[in-house]
Amino acid sequence: MPKETLVKIYDKLLEAFGPQHWWPADDDFEIIVGAILTQSVSWKNVEKAIDNLKAKGLLSLDAILAVDKDKLAALIKSTMYYNQKALKLKNFCRYIKQNYGGDIYSLFEKSIPNMRAELLSIKGIGPETADSIILYAAAKPIFVVDAYTRRIFSRLGFLPDDAKYSQMQDFFMSNLPSDVNLFNEYHALIVRLGKDYCKNKKPLCNECPVKNHCSNI
Ligand code: SF4
Repeated sequence: MPKETLVKIYDKLLEAFGPQHWWPADDDFEIIVGAILTQSVSWKNVEKAIDNLKAKGLLSLDAILAVDKDKLAALIKSTMYYNQKALKLKNFCRYIKQNYGGDIYSLFEKSIPNMRAELLSIKGIGPETADSIILYAAAKPIFVVDAYTRRIFSRLGFLPDDAKYSQMQDFFMSNLPSDVNLFNEYHALIVRLGKDYCKNKKPLCNECPVKNHCSNI
C-alpha cells in the first residue's frame, strides 16, 4: 500500500510542478559547496554566496583550502552561521586533499555505505549534507530527507511528526525502487510542495496537488 501510494504522490507532484532540475550547479564541486551552505537557509542566500566565491575565483577545492578562513566566511555571509560553514567547507576540502589528493571522484568510487561513513566522519557534515552529496554530486541512489519531508509525510499520515532522519530515509528507500533519477526528483518535488503549499503555519490544503492522499484534511 505505501509503495503504490508513494508512487502516486510522486506522479501527482511531477504532473503539478514538472521537473525541478536539481541540483542547480555548473559542476559537482559546486553541488557539494551548495549542499554544505544550504543548511538552515534559503537557496537564494546560497546563490549569493556561490556567486561571491565564483567572482573571487574561489570555487575550487584548492582555492578554498588556500583562502583565509575569515575572508571565506565574509564571502558566504548570506548563508547564516557563516563562520561554522566556512570551517565545514575547509574541513571537507582538507579531507579530500589529504585522503584523495584533492580528487572528489576518487571518493565517489566508494560504495554508498563507505562514502557515507567517510562523509559523516568529516566534522560539520551531517546526514542531510552527506546524502545530498551522494545523490546529487556522486549520482548514487540514496534518498535525501529533511524538515519538509517530515512535515509533509506526517501530515499525509505516513510518518510520526517526530520521525528521525533514519526512519524517514528507511521509509522511502524500502518503499521505492532504488533509482537515482526518481530519488533526485522526488526530494526536489517534496521541497517544492513544502515551500509552496504544505507551509508550516497555514498549509494551502484546498489547492494542494496531493490533498486526495492526505489525512490532514
Ligand atoms: S493537503 Fe495540506 S497538509 Fe496535506 S500535504 Fe497538502 S498542504 Fe500538506
